[in-house]
Amino acid sequence: MKVIDHINNAKRTLFSFELLPPLKGHNINGIYRAIDPLLPFEPSFINITYHQEEVVYKKHKSGLLEKKTVKKRPGTVAISAAIKYKYPNIDVVPHLICGGFTREDTEYALIDFHFLGIDNILALRGDPPKSLRVFVPETNGHAHSSDLVKQIFQMNKGNYLDEDLENTTATNFCVGVAGYPEKHIESPNFTSDLKYLKLKIDSGAEYIITQMFFDNQKYFDFVRRCRETGITVPIIPGIKPITNLRDIHLLPQVFNIDIPEDLVAAINKCKTNEDAFQTGIEWSINQSRELLRFGVPVLHYFTIGISENIRQIVKTVF
Ligand code: FAD
Repeated sequence: MKVIDHINNAKRTLFSFELLPPLKGHNINGIYRAIDPLLPFEPSFINITYHQEEVVYKKHKSGLLEKKTVKKRPGTVAISAAIKYKYPNIDVVPHLICGGFTREDTEYALIDFHFLGIDNILALRGDPPKSLRVFVPETNGHAHSSDLVKQIFQMNKGNYLDEDLENTTATNFCVGVAGYPEKHIESPNFTSDLKYLKLKIDSGAEYIITQMFFDNQKYFDFVRRCRETGITVPIIPGIKPITNLRDIHLLPQVFNIDIPEDLVAAINKCKTNEDAFQTGIEWSINQSRELLRFGVPVLHYFTIGISENIRQIVKTVF
């Protein structure tokens, strides 16, 4: 079922979560070990992230550096298919990014998803490689996720890149996009970011999943500003429990988000990563309860491949 149909048919707030493909060299069992404890809470859908190739430098004994391109977390398409067939009651939402994809690559990926019976996609641009800081699209690739959304909706009309194709089958993808309650890091200001968010919706996206935030007021303000901008689609809050002592320093750097003073103080009182893990659970429980009262369509949790913290949160909240 499509994410938008889950939301439209729901009589209560739904539960969903995001998983990362395992690091190269590991098998898929870690994914199943993360999903299985969450099954009793009836997740409506599971998102699978997509990871672009990265450039790494391998130092040889001679001191020379070898430049290599590696895909550290391959397998998004295969994992999505495996989950779909192992857990028939749960829908899967693979992420598809612009980075590293030409328009043709995108079309082939969409054809694979279509053949697999996967009709949900979260359309994203992807981050710039760490070494570059600037996003550079592939030649003949998309510079922005709104262009990716447009390509998907062309296929939903049966329009493939090859105009000579006849009697094509239209795909039927439901597309979500990302939103940033604390503004996307590259955006010059909030108004500009919302303008482009609206462009993604006007291009055909049917819902938004937000970047993580730790202060619900940021989400409430974001929803209000989206509505004022004319964005009417469901806005799903993304919730990330803190898992260790370093998160309060790392997450703001990586995701351009603030950690509220009360949470910083609570984590600073922790002596071990285990204490911080538990504090992260308690903070997310309080966040989730308030979001539930606000009437959010879905509570969507970001995992880091383990789900024990998410299990404890949803057991308390739902
Ligand atoms: P865009 O919508 O393209 O926006 C990027 C920037 O460009 C913004 O500042 C925006 O305001 C601006 N902009 C947008 N359109 C235009 C335009 N037409 N003209 C000029 N400016 C424009 N990354 C991954 O690599 N893999 C994942 O699986 C992944 N999953 C994610 C899941 C969620 C829920 C979220 C919130 C993020 C995820 N990301 C993932 C990170 C995401 O790829 C980055 O945040 C990326 O930097 C921006 O992606 P976007 O889709 O928001 O980009």
